[in-house]
Amino acid sequence: MTTIDLRRLRLRPGEVREERLDVELQPFLLGGQRYELHPETVPVELEITRASGATVFDLRLHAHVVGPCMRCLGFAELEVDTRAREFHDPDAPPADGLRSDYVADDELNVTDWARDAIALALPEQILCRDDCAGLCPVCGKDLNAEPHEHADRELDPRWAALESLRDQL
Ligand SMILES: [Zn+2]
Ligand SMILES: [Zn+2]
Repeated sequence: MTTIDLRRLRLRPGEVREERLDVELQPFLLGGQRYELHPETVPVELEITRASGATVFDLRLHAHVVGPCMRCLGFAELEVDTRAREFHDPDAPPADGLRSDYVADDELNVTDWARDAIALALPEQILCRDDCAGLCPVCGKDLNAEPHEHADRELDPRWAALESLRDQL
């Protein structure tokens, strides 16, 4: 886990510090599929500003995500560029928004924050391409490679079972 020790920074009010960290992130599991980061070490840029009361953290990262297309299970990849901001004032009352969830014991948890920032930036559907045709619901073949339709009769495999049952009567 990558953290920043806030005491070590010794920022005075008004001071700004930039840090660049390589954060190793575990794959994401979405809808039972595994999405990996390539490379799994993501460069994270942080800007830490000490305001009068609170410290302001700005995060910026770029990640390359690779995994199965959610429609056809083929190869899909996407670039994530995202920014996030957190405030932290250790003296603020809990739950007033000025106490960052990523700060505990004067340490900023960069791994958890970067992971959440990527998760928030991911699209609802990860696709190999915007107009991916997906898999045929009847036979399971890839409709991108083999566009086809089935006659109504074939639509439901249960019809076939009924048919053979009727033949036996
Ligand atoms: Zn696809
Ligand atoms: Zn089919």
